Amino acid sequence: MPILNYIDTHCHLDGEEFDADRDAVVQRAREAGCRKVFLPAIDVATCRTVLDVCRTYPGYCYPMLGLHPEEVRGDWREQLAAIRPLLTSSSPLAIGEVGLDYYWSREFEQEQLEAFEEQVRWSVEIGLPLMIHCRKAQNELAAILKRYARKLPGGVFHCFTGNEQEALQLLEFPQFVLGIGGVLTFKKSHLPEVLPKVVPLDRIVLETDAPYMAPVPQRGQRNEPAYITHVIDRLATAYGVSADDICRHTTATVRRVFGQAFAGEE
Ligand SMILES: [Zn+2]
Repeated sequence: MPILNYIDTHCHLDGEEFDADRDAVVQRAREAGCRKVFLPAIDVATCRTVLDVCRTYPGYCYPMLGLHPEEVRGDWREQLAAIRPLLTSSSPLAIGEVGLDYYWSREFEQEQLEAFEEQVRWSVEIGLPLMIHCRKAQNELAAILKRYARKLPGGVFHCFTGNEQEALQLLEFPQFVLGIGGVLTFKKSHLPEVLPKVVPLDRIVLETDAPYMAPVPQRGQRNEPAYITHVIDRLATAYGVSADDICRHTTATVRRVFGQAFAGEE
């Protein structure tokens, strides 16, 4: 088997699902060719667990800090007030995950909009990229980003699963790229046709969203960074290139968006 060289840009490795065997998961990731893993927080509590795990695997795991839209409730202002100082005291790679999610509920629709916009302003102020989560709210999300478009340092629209129009709308933000994971391998997914048609290979990064979204043939099981190899194979087929090409392009894109993770490397 050829030795791959890739980066998992979105992995909840701090989750309790990994408490029993986190070292083994990291070991399997390294053996599969995963060179770095980026961990998103979802609220104040997970900012702490993300930072803890990243301290345990220095130079391998990197933190991203923010308030996830599904965690936005009545106390969102207090949550943001507690997260903001961590951005300067603990040098995260990105702000995330942040965004809008109206899939389950619109109860905190207005609060989600305000919390997202506030974190977009942080991205501009501090110059950190955004790790963006978006479900059933793409137009609202794009409208907010448009107001800051020229000043935004960039980021990832994580777990992209949309159609051609949705991809094109997101690609209009030139500093942003799409995060592609296990959904690509699902039988009903249109991504294998949509992506090569409208998304240049240098606008994609790889992700697990582990423990969720395990690719076929591990679908339904706990996901982990080593399983990205199946996503790489499927992408290679879709674009008609080698697995190695997929790794080279996506890693170069990660470097462009998250330069800080490579400080000190050639
Ligand atoms: Zn996530």
